[in-house]
Amino acid sequence: MFGWWRRRRRARVLAEPFPAEWRARLELEVALWRAVPDELRSRLEDDLRLFIAERSWEPCGGLQLTPAMQAVIAAQACVLSLGHSVDAFDHVRSILVYPDRYRAPDVYEDEAGIVTEELDERDGEAWHWGTVVLAWRELAADARTLNGRNLVLHEMAHQIDLLDAVASSPFSSPDERARHRRWRETFLDLYEAFCTEVDAGRRVKGLDSYGAEDEAEFFSVASESFFERGAFLRTHQPALYELLQEYFNQDPAAWPPPPSRPEAEAVSGRERRRLRRAAERRTAKRRG
Ligand SMILES: [Zn+2]
Repeated sequence: MFGWWRRRRRARVLAEPFPAEWRARLELEVALWRAVPDELRSRLEDDLRLFIAERSWEPCGGLQLTPAMQAVIAAQACVLSLGHSVDAFDHVRSILVYPDRYRAPDVYEDEAGIVTEELDERDGEAWHWGTVVLAWRELAADARTLNGRNLVLHEMAHQIDLLDAVASSPFSSPDERARHRRWRETFLDLYEAFCTEVDAGRRVKGLDSYGAEDEAEFFSVASESFFERGAFLRTHQPALYELLQEYFNQDPAAWPPPPSRPEAEAVSGRERRRLRRAAERRTAKRRG
């Protein structure tokens, strides 16, 4: 019954023409949109409309969240699921959007059992029960360029984490189970090797050292790189690229180069990254 209702609802959403205003805005503001090959574009247009329709959107902090802004977010999220189905986000029920980096109360306990409560600055987070929180200004800045840093990809990748996905498919066929086991082992080996490099103070080309925080961060950081700088990641981290290529069923390194556009300001990038790191470290600590 649910399936029938949903198919009907989806058909109704897709029967409407894709808004020209959204297309213009995506062309202008979302580098990833321009990077996706033409033959995948109409599929992405469909997916992002379903993604918007099937989530609860909650503007916070006085933000005026317009449908075109939802499209900017959804277009990037749906690049992650293009190789499979937008159903990969079924469990993501709500998207909260703040105008800017937001402050959230954070309570955590250190090793000595001392409980600290403080207001924490964040630009995004993903809760495992299906809520994603994003700061509009930060995500819009990330969206403009393909530099391996993308807040929407990062937080949405947390929602379709490879390890979670592999662990949560007990009904798959023996072949699939074997493939998932192989993915899992390869992924954890690559994570260990990456941590060894980071711990030794060496820079790993194509990957932000923040990925060494834990396996989930490694997956998110790698996903940002995979879609935004696929060719670079394939050159420097071929085994990781190949794994993600299989997992996402996509090959961004083979996408034709997108039309160039003026560089966005890179001044606050490093600072944004630093704050995100600090905030997520605390979130991770709280999660235990
Ligand atoms: Zn993260």
